[in-house]
Amino acid sequence: MSSLLEAYAAVAGEDIIRHLRQLSAPLQGRSVVHVNSTRLGGGVAEILHKLVPLSRELGIDTHWEVISGDADFYECTKQMHNALQGSRIQIPDRLLQHYEEVNAQNAARLRPLLEDADFVVIHDPQPAALLRHCPNRGGQWVWRCHIDASRPQRHVWRFLERHVRAFDASIFSLPQFTRALPHPEYIIAPSIDPLSDKNIDLPQEEIDAIYHRFELDPESPIIAQISRYDRFKDPVGVVEAFRMARRFVPRLQLVLAGGTATDDPEGDAVLAEVREASDNDPHIRILTLPPDAHRGINALQRAAHIVLQKSTREGFGLTVTEAMWKGKPVIGGDTGGIRLQVSNYHTGFLVNTPEGAALRIRYLLQAPEKIQHMGDNARELVRENFLLTRQLRDYLTLMVGLHHRAADRIDLV
Ligand code: UDP
Repeated sequence: MSSLLEAYAAVAGEDIIRHLRQLSAPLQGRSVVHVNSTRLGGGVAEILHKLVPLSRELGIDTHWEVISGDADFYECTKQMHNALQGSRIQIPDRLLQHYEEVNAQNAARLRPLLEDADFVVIHDPQPAALLRHCPNRGGQWVWRCHIDASRPQRHVWRFLERHVRAFDASIFSLPQFTRALPHPEYIIAPSIDPLSDKNIDLPQEEIDAIYHRFELDPESPIIAQISRYDRFKDPVGVVEAFRMARRFVPRLQLVLAGGTATDDPEGDAVLAEVREASDNDPHIRILTLPPDAHRGINALQRAAHIVLQKSTREGFGLTVTEAMWKGKPVIGGDTGGIRLQVSNYHTGFLVNTPEGAALRIRYLLQAPEKIQHMGDNARELVRENFLLTRQLRDYLTLMVGLHHRAADRIDLV
């Protein structure tokens, strides 16, 4: 077995790797081109960095192309991204026209590869207009939407829809993120990479160093929420829950960690609210982390006994997946993708109020064996459903389905 697949087999299990081989058999020698707009930064690029070499090892001729644009193009696609997620933005026609031009320029460069490919996967809105400029395409094109486009600004969606309706299929991350389109739509949930710095197993010394670095008592329980300082993540609600729980668990400690909020004025305001709510409580650590603090986040999640993600609104909630992969029960807000991951008494608890969260913190801390048991369930649930290998399996299944065109039943040997 080749090395990358072997490495994933060790953490994700042999079964999924066998399944990947089975699914890739009918796709041997087929070509796939993924196209997005950046090679660095963001979840899409992070996943493609691993997905592409894994697909190659499976015998699929996989390529990853990145479109290039100027400042106006990125201004336009940023506004598009925000408008598709519901922000009230009117994108000037001049910018939309520029979006078309930049796609046309990129198509001129990529056309031979794209028109020859058996499958083209276009990630997000930025390269969605490439299809129009590949009139002699031989393969099937899939639009992969990673964002919640369920409540977009109408004019922006109308503009984008003209492009995406011409695709053969589209993929959304959750059923509630979809839009009505005149082709088959598939749901493929996000995933985490178990071999990334954020999720890889850490030596115990690295976890122990966290206690020292953030002046935490390793002998006393720690609860943590690691998430952007954003009102929808309800960090103030977490402080309230902590205070209530602490009346019953006197040595309890709370860690709240989020990014350095300098580029996000609202983040600064929320951070200030959290500081005020915590009122210099010596048992609360409010941390701001640099964007590349992957191993630090990993260690914090591992140092915690229970992880909270008390969001009142959430997309998928990768922080929940990350914590569960580390064998932690999660007390999460009863919303969005958290519901897919957290189930009461099995992998954690769903809550709607600080009082509810406090009750569950108290319950778990009085029954350490439950923490262990639910944490084990949580890790298994992620292993089965939310690792990168499962996402690759879903992509391959979709390609096999498209490859067989109208067949409603696919036999794999
Ligand atoms: N994250 C991070 N630094 C922080 C807070 C969060 O790198 O200070 C990471 C976190 O580990 C996760 C991602 O950012 O991988 C957040 O994804 P999620 O789906 O939980 O929420 P979003 O921020 O996209 O709403």
